[in-house]
Amino acid sequence: MPELPEVETVARGLQRLVGLPVVGVRVQRTDLRSPIAVAEMKGLVGRSVVEVGRRGKVLWWRLQGGGEEVFLRVHLGMSGRLWVGGREMGWEHHEHLRWDFPEFSVRLYDPRRFGWVDVVGVEEFEGWRSQMAPEPWDERVTPQQALTAARGRRGSVKGWLLAGEWVVGIGNIYACEILFAAGVAPGRAVGSLSLGEWERVITAMREVLERAIAAGGTTVRDFTSVEAQEGWFQVQLAVYGRAGKPCTRCGGEVRRVRQGGRTTWWCPGCQR
Ligand SMILES: [Zn+2]
Repeated sequence: MPELPEVETVARGLQRLVGLPVVGVRVQRTDLRSPIAVAEMKGLVGRSVVEVGRRGKVLWWRLQGGGEEVFLRVHLGMSGRLWVGGREMGWEHHEHLRWDFPEFSVRLYDPRRFGWVDVVGVEEFEGWRSQMAPEPWDERVTPQQALTAARGRRGSVKGWLLAGEWVVGIGNIYACEILFAAGVAPGRAVGSLSLGEWERVITAMREVLERAIAAGGTTVRDFTSVEAQEGWFQVQLAVYGRAGKPCTRCGGEVRRVRQGGRTTWWCPGCQR
């Protein structure tokens, strides 16, 4: 499932779109998590991409030309992928949408269709972007700020990371990895973490995400095929999916538990 590092990798890979005009939009099926507004999507034709970015797990393009500036937003959901291919290539099974550029198409593939795409004006875009919780690297995110925000809360620290209200972009894989790197047990009440533990969580969060982005960047630099994007899931994971295997740090057994409807992997020897 694409989390922040995967979407960041896609955003970096799509920097090649900057300066290019959209020359066509083709929609194969509209029923994603919310239906594709086909007319608005086709309204991108004739505009050029001037910027490609990411906010949380959402990829966005800023487009100009032919009226007011607009933003395309793409959420990849559970199983969505974007890749670049020749305009004349046949449609893949589960491929729903293509944005055509002069030399190639950007293709949206999403077998489970939990993703969504839309086109919004600048006001709606800026409102949406500023309402979201900070990015993990935002300077407002500090141990003291986390301590204050979490004070008195009884939910688990893992649930807190997943909720997207403190910082955006962290899903199940990286929540497990961050808490392992920080040495904090995932079931701990979030309000019980000390200032020193928040310092470790924040440092671990930034390091784990940066490492994943760097790995994603090397494995999917040129994601011209569906196969190439499998590289996303080859990032070195320390605990996620490793139940019963030895902990890479202490040699103890990595455990798996159900927590808030999701599976958590952790090492009781390293995480307190
Ligand atoms: Zn361990």
